[in-house]
Amino acid sequence: MAKLLPRRDAVIIGLGWTGSIIAQQLAQAGLNVVAIERGPWRDTPTDFNIGYMQDELRYGIRKELFLQPAVEAMTMRNDASQTALPMRDYGSFLPGNGVGGAGVHWNGHTWRFWDSDFSIRSHLTRRYGAKKIAGLQLQDWGATYAELEHCFDRFEYLAGISGKAGNLRGRIQPGGNPFESPRARDYPNPPMKMSYAPTLFAQKARELGWHPFPTPSANLSRSYVNPLGVRMGQCTYCGFCERFACANYSKASPQTCVLPVLMRQPNFELRSECEVLTVNLTPDGKAAKSVTYIDAKGVEYEQPGDMVVLCAYGLMNVRLMLLSKIGRQYDPVSGKGTVGRNYCYQTSSAARLFFDSGKTFNPFIAAGSLGQTLDDFNGDAFDHSALGFVGGAGFNCVLTNGRPIGYRPTAPGSPRWGAKWKQAVVDGYQHSTGFSSQGSSYPVRQNYLDLDPTYSDRHGRPLLRVTFDFPDNDIAMSHHMSDQMEKLAKVYGAKVATVSRLKKGWDSVPYQSTHNTGGAVMGADPKTSAVNKYLQSWDVPNVFVVGASAFAHNAGMNPTGTVGALAFWAAEAITTKYIKSPGALVPA
Ligand SMILES: Cc1cc2nc3c(=O)[nH]c(=O)nc-3n(C[C@H](O)[C@H](O)[C@H](O)COP(=O)(O)OP(=O)(O)OC[C@H]3O[C@@H](n4cnc5c(N)ncnc54)[C@H](O)[C@@H]3O)c2cc1C
Ligand code: SF4
Repeated sequence: MAKLLPRRDAVIIGLGWTGSIIAQQLAQAGLNVVAIERGPWRDTPTDFNIGYMQDELRYGIRKELFLQPAVEAMTMRNDASQTALPMRDYGSFLPGNGVGGAGVHWNGHTWRFWDSDFSIRSHLTRRYGAKKIAGLQLQDWGATYAELEHCFDRFEYLAGISGKAGNLRGRIQPGGNPFESPRARDYPNPPMKMSYAPTLFAQKARELGWHPFPTPSANLSRSYVNPLGVRMGQCTYCGFCERFACANYSKASPQTCVLPVLMRQPNFELRSECEVLTVNLTPDGKAAKSVTYIDAKGVEYEQPGDMVVLCAYGLMNVRLMLLSKIGRQYDPVSGKGTVGRNYCYQTSSAARLFFDSGKTFNPFIAAGSLGQTLDDFNGDAFDHSALGFVGGAGFNCVLTNGRPIGYRPTAPGSPRWGAKWKQAVVDGYQHSTGFSSQGSSYPVRQNYLDLDPTYSDRHGRPLLRVTFDFPDNDIAMSHHMSDQMEKLAKVYGAKVATVSRLKKGWDSVPYQSTHNTGGAVMGADPKTSAVNKYLQSWDVPNVFVVGASAFAHNAGMNPTGTVGALAFWAAEAITTKYIKSPGALVPA
């Protein structure tokens, strides 16, 4: 029997980026807030110490900061004819676990999805006709970029993003991204200093008439005090960033941007090492009354709340909704139901170039998001009329690291052991560079999330089942991107250049990206979306579901800028509309 606790105004599940933003906004508005976080408490001075934080074996290879499958695994298959099997080790993506979530060990590329993304179906139909997108389950998001613009701004200023505006209130700015949607003001900090690899990438891309610009980065180019009054330091380009926490207060994270203020709020309480098992509904299933969680000693508690906000990461949000019967499971055969619908991923490929000793890249001068990007082939920045696909990709030359275990590029054909292999490693380390494409992922009927019928977790609850493969549209898009990357690789004049080509058959083993989107998408129609434009459940209006689970498709860029904007957007709806008049904010 779970121990019943005193009621709170709001119960937040998960304290990563979304949980900390929502909790801070709600606590600041005077609500009595409790956050329940599955993983441990972590902070910079105690857990991210410079004395051991750059331990590549511990953090980069053994993934100490990440979710372990023994805590929560998932099963995967490529299509419904297969039997899904559990991932015994997280590989393709690496969910976070613990206070700060994946915001602790992310890279920091911080994008805004474009105007055309939020109205993707209308936009593409208008430009190319409905036939062009037949077979894709593309849909508008219910909220527009113009509505969300100030929320993107709030996230960028909270996190102290370093970058250069490309479009200020409709005016294209030299040196920025000319394809971005208009922003009201520039980034709070200037771009990072560029090392040789991204500088060369930009030079070569310009030779082709393309438009490179500094990648917007949550690794800070200078010291900064954010609007909450929290001070951050300048990045030292240490190269132990992606998969690591920052020991230097230089990478934006809940710890460096929000928690110093949130943890001092007397009306906020955090319970870490407590895993939420289910959200409990009233007998009619129309309201959440409490959540049940289990602490590290195995004691179960029931925490009642007037409102529940799921901030447990996109995939876990969907699983919690299904376990708690919030909304109806999506069925890919009938197309009915919304929870689990429009699961998408990211469609990537990469180029690697090897030079003679003339070019020296010093890859140890690196940071999670130190680089240059070009968006000439992203989204709908180029004409797709004569092409057999929609969507696109950003091309990035980002020097994240030159770490001794993980970074050992060798030219194709090099021996795999012995003295000659060692020499190839030495040559490849200093004299090679690379760039990659990060492509959109568009929804199709057969890619979805549900509960696995066979495998369960340590508490006996079914695991989440991921059914996903790259749709033909996305494969065609990705091959077009590989063609463009080959053009760029040629201009470099490298001794050897390779460009990868995406194949059918998503593989859950090699790391690709932790950009899992959809499953509880936002929208204007309760038949095709699980949450309304304010990320409020259509079926259980005192439940909000915040994260990339709300994305109706995935664009050719990293998600967290948009995730952060949506967190501010949902918090604003709760504090300015919902608490004044609890109930559905949009009629179903
Ligand atoms: C290696 C890596 C690099 C990345 N780089 C980038 C990048 O450069 N740019 C970008 O845009 N994005 C990047 N991402 C993705 C980014 O980290 C996520 O988009 C972001 O952290 C999502 O925030 P969130 O609040 O939705 O989830 P999270 O940050 O994952 O937080 C969710 C929290 O909920 C907790 N939780 C889950 N289930 C429960 C439960 N049942 N009970 C209680 N608590 C629970 C988890 O422990 C976790 O702390 C990267 C991710 C990784 C792993
Ligand atoms: S590269 Fe910069 S932001 Fe990243 S961990 Fe090192 S100092 Fe921190």
